Amino acid sequence: MITFVPPPHLLESPRGRDWPAAPAAAPPRTGPPAGADVAIVGAGPAGLAVASALWHLGVRDVVLLDRGGRPCGRFFDRVDTLRQRVLRSPYEHHPGVEGYRDCELLDFARLHWSLLTPVERREIRMAQSGHRSVVPVDVFEAYCRHVSTLHHVDERTWRATVREVRPTRPDEGSAAGATVHGDGFALTARSVVLCLGEERRDAPADWWEGEGTPAGVSYWDEPVPSDAGRLVVVGAGLSAAHLIANALGEGKEVHWVLRAPEERYQCADVNASFFRAEGRARFDGTSWQDRLALMGGHRRASVMFEFRPLMERAEAEGRLTVHRGRAVTGVTPVRAGRSAVLLEGDARVVGDHVVLALGTVVSNGDRLLPSSVVAARDGWPDLDERTLAYRGAPGVFAVGAAAGMVLGPAARNIDGHRVATARVAGAIAAHLAGTSAPLPSEDREIARV
Ligand SMILES: Cc1cc2nc3c(=O)[nH]c(=O)nc-3n(C[C@H](O)[C@H](O)[C@H](O)COP(=O)(O)OP(=O)(O)OC[C@H]3O[C@@H](n4cnc5c(N)ncnc54)[C@H](O)[C@@H]3O)c2cc1C
Repeated sequence: MITFVPPPHLLESPRGRDWPAAPAAAPPRTGPPAGADVAIVGAGPAGLAVASALWHLGVRDVVLLDRGGRPCGRFFDRVDTLRQRVLRSPYEHHPGVEGYRDCELLDFARLHWSLLTPVERREIRMAQSGHRSVVPVDVFEAYCRHVSTLHHVDERTWRATVREVRPTRPDEGSAAGATVHGDGFALTARSVVLCLGEERRDAPADWWEGEGTPAGVSYWDEPVPSDAGRLVVVGAGLSAAHLIANALGEGKEVHWVLRAPEERYQCADVNASFFRAEGRARFDGTSWQDRLALMGGHRRASVMFEFRPLMERAEAEGRLTVHRGRAVTGVTPVRAGRSAVLLEGDARVVGDHVVLALGTVVSNGDRLLPSSVVAARDGWPDLDERTLAYRGAPGVFAVGAAAGMVLGPAARNIDGHRVATARVAGAIAAHLAGTSAPLPSEDREIARV
């Protein structure tokens, strides 16, 4: 059997091109208003998808609240910190609204053909002929800006950290869904959509003594010091792979610590079937235990195939040492400012710097909503499976990773947001219009206008 391994040069793509763009309105300068039809907490790709879908459904009194204040800002900050130049997801996955005549990501890239490199153009032809293709981060960012401008998202995005979401009690009337509280503001909205994404997973408390990260140790979403000649990377996912590739490219010696017996290479981070209706159907009406098992099996860390030749060559040449099947028990300082990663079985790996790429934790709403509303089970919130509203607060919805136990492991991805958005936006528009929700089925995810 011949195994096709895509070449590493597909991982390269220029960043920071001058994309022609429609002038976006300035972000708001005053604090958020006291009321709105809809408040969206989090303006990442999920929040952008929800705001855009609501715009098409005629819901325009929408406020987005985001810590960074820039649509998709955290996503691009994360990929740029890792120097990730291409997306893992293909051209079909984008936060644009399905079922409307918006320009989709592939059309957008083709419209800007003259700005693309020969490799990027070839990838577009691959996408057009139905093959897996690689999308430049630069194209995706320009596209997100385009979607944001088109649906008037910039001027409705406030930089604000939300501290609490207080659902309206039934005796307070049904018009308001919840009040969103932040530093110096409170906003009451008829519907609130939580698009909180995922926080990075921190190391277990017993890996070192004391609060805070020790000197010589950082996480994947932080810059790596340039003077570290020998780097130790812990973790088995794409972030770890980027850190390793960057360090090798700079001539550093790298040690890679993996808990799994071997590294896993695959195209997408979850099996491609979960991006389609038949994959999502595996979560419909399935027992909780079966869903948990599916999640456990399909949310395992993996690396894009394109890294494989690069890693294998570096290992063969002795520039990369892979410690497979080694569980970490701690990190400790050693002499001359170096750090040691302690492994089960009394072994250790010493480096000038240690980077932890331990993945992410789903933000299920528990930092904002009462715990009785989140009703978390194994970390997952209790959501109405048709509308993605919290069962304990029907005016508050979740889009993004938090919807994983309803939509499957792809809920955290850009494509999963479109599926969740169709359900949530349809339910909100119907609620505001005073009709019962014309809930989308898998075949009718957003009605055309
Ligand atoms: C390095 C990296 C690469 C990835 N690549 C891909 C890819 O190629 N394809 C793909 O489909 N997926 C990819 N993913 C998964 C990716 O996280 C999601 O697709 C996307 O970022 C999720 O969007 P989101 O809006 O749910 O979350 P985020 O992008 O994280 O956005 C959530 C926003 O909510 C804000 N927020 C959270 N809490 C609050 C609060 N209390 N108050 C105010 N604001 C708040 C956050 O600051 C953030 O801006 C990648 C993830 C990472 C980390």
